[in-house]
Amino acid sequence: MFNRSRRNLARWFTLSMGSILILFAGVIYYQRVVDRLEESDRLLYRKARFMAANIDYKWQQGKASIDLSNVPVLGSFSPPSDSNIVYARWYSGDGKLRQFYGPQPSDDIQVRSAFETIQSDSEWLRQLTLPVDHNERTIGYLQVAIPLTETQDAVRAMLLVTTIAIPLTLGAISLTGWILGGLAMQPIRNAYIQLQRFTSDASHEFRAPLATMLSNAQVGLLSPIDQGEPKHLRLEKVVETAKLMNQLVTDLLFLARHAGQLDANTIQTINLNDLLKETIATTTIQSVAQSLTLHLELPEDPIMIQGNPDLLKQAIINLLTNACNHTLAEGSIWLRLIPHYHRILIQIEDTGIGIPATDLPHIFDRFYRVDQERTRTKGGTGLGLAIAQQIVEAHGGRLTVVSQVNQGSLFQIELSLC
Ligand code: ADP
Repeated sequence: MFNRSRRNLARWFTLSMGSILILFAGVIYYQRVVDRLEESDRLLYRKARFMAANIDYKWQQGKASIDLSNVPVLGSFSPPSDSNIVYARWYSGDGKLRQFYGPQPSDDIQVRSAFETIQSDSEWLRQLTLPVDHNERTIGYLQVAIPLTETQDAVRAMLLVTTIAIPLTLGAISLTGWILGGLAMQPIRNAYIQLQRFTSDASHEFRAPLATMLSNAQVGLLSPIDQGEPKHLRLEKVVETAKLMNQLVTDLLFLARHAGQLDANTIQTINLNDLLKETIATTTIQSVAQSLTLHLELPEDPIMIQGNPDLLKQAIINLLTNACNHTLAEGSIWLRLIPHYHRILIQIEDTGIGIPATDLPHIFDRFYRVDQERTRTKGGTGLGLAIAQQIVEAHGGRLTVVSQVNQGSLFQIELSLC
């Protein structure tokens, strides 16, 4: 699936970039051909003008006489050695051929004023027919032609370079497309792998309690007579497991609903001193902290931040519950609020069992538990820290932990004051 998408991306990239390249090369090629032709036209025009300037026109005894003896090529019937004129012709004002150098033309002029490209035998020629005027009267037409060999050679060379360069560039483009396609697919591939892992973990989490419920219900159904205590215990087990599954579903929904940015409508100004007091007083915390000492340390001045109070409370409850669940009786838990330059720190510290260094990098992963059995019996879903982290990050903050086995753990929420 990913390779097909990558191939498609590379194909479309090559197609679009290739079309732009070919279009661009075509425009440049056309422009260069036009430039070369204009260059040879300018040269041809200069030669013709020079020849026309040497035409001698006189009135003798009421009659016009035209002397071409001083005109290069036509006058001497041979061009100078550095000239590349193929032919030169002189036509009278009424278009009749009077004098020529080069191959014999037809007697009458065909075109009276223009540049033309003509194919003669094996080569292409550029021809200019220039009307020659005297006192605003056309006294004749000078027709000169030069070969297009140089222009043709240059154009051919350009075509050769283009036909070699285009496939090579197309190859480079498709390779780049393939590499870019791979880079673009990487985050999608990672997200897909994560989703797959999450689905398999979630299914696994559901399977164990479902199996417990099923076996208890089946055994209960098999015994036809109410055996009192054991049947009651079985039903209690079913209820307990259903509660755990309910919590699991609630946590999963929570993670899905509150992913990403905070909903702007839920953001309000929060007095953190009050929020922490309320949180520590909740029945959830009080019930898990029965044999423990809870300390609340707040600054004198109230600290105000912008955020979602319900979500922040949920994150702190999760951290406090964990601290209580992993601290042995008579231990202590501290909940602190500390202003720190432009940031504020909320610390949850316990004197509990601590977390081994090898587990620390994974404890924020969904469904990760250090001691599977211990946390399951406490009703943990393995999602508490992932939820807390998601909430803190949605507030633009950071959740960190330091811990030492048998000494305790310190979870810290770092939030910005602005
Ligand atoms: P759970 O809901 O199972 O507690 P969490 O995501 O909240 O899942 O925590 C993940 C794991 O991290 C727990 O199973 C526990 O092993 C460990 N843990 C979390 N908080 C503490 C703590 N304060 N002291 C020791 N271990 C902890």
